[in-house]
Amino acid sequence: MSAPLVVPDGARLVLATHNRKKLVELVAILRTQPGLDALPDGAVVTAGDLGAPEPVEDGVTFEENALIKARALARATGLPAVADDSGLAVDVLGGSPGIFSARWAGRHGDDQANLDLLLAQLSAIENPEHRRAGFVCAAALVTPDGDEQVTRAEMRGTLVGAARGTHGFGYDPILVPDDQAPSSDGTPGTLTSAELTPDEKNAISHRGKAFRALAPRIAEAL
Ligand code: IMP
Repeated sequence: MSAPLVVPDGARLVLATHNRKKLVELVAILRTQPGLDALPDGAVVTAGDLGAPEPVEDGVTFEENALIKARALARATGLPAVADDSGLAVDVLGGSPGIFSARWAGRHGDDQANLDLLLAQLSAIENPEHRRAGFVCAAALVTPDGDEQVTRAEMRGTLVGAARGTHGFGYDPILVPDDQAPSSDGTPGTLTSAELTPDEKNAISHRGKAFRALAPRIAEAL
């Protein structure tokens, strides 16, 4: 990383994301946690706000990539830095797309193309038991003095054959999470992650669980 970044007065924590939708999820999750619920406006800044360059994510695990992002940002800002790396791991594909989730169809961040390709790859597999998958999240905290913490969590579910729902991002419209509330008739819920409200998703999501596990360490680092 080149010249040090200009960090605004009042900034106490920096989040390593350039993805607005993910930022909204992260802030909503962190604000429910003790010690982080009363953070004043301006205390949380993002890599995107500061114009921080994105480091090369050349790790081969979610944990390594989360640490690469958090380390680079802690070094550049002098603030505690939090990063996550996440993706979808499909059982029948041996855990792919995994760390390649954001660029599965070839172009980084093209959610629609990624989702369409995955649906095409699974189109011959009709038995829901063979369409099992999980969203995985590794969340990392790196402090300016070099202390490092990583947590990992998963949201398991079944992939449906056609996208449904408008919330969330990425592969949300095709995963029906196991841990959602039952339907009104008591049968297991069948909503995709993109049909859940943001609060419903955050309560059971890979990202929600990984960040809630990391939250006490983040509160200590502030
Ligand atoms: P990232 O590298 O952590 O930004 O995430 C990589 C990719 O994984 C995203 O571009 C999405 O395609 C997918 N992904 C991660 N988390 C989620 C989620 O909560 N819902 C849907 N897709 C997700």
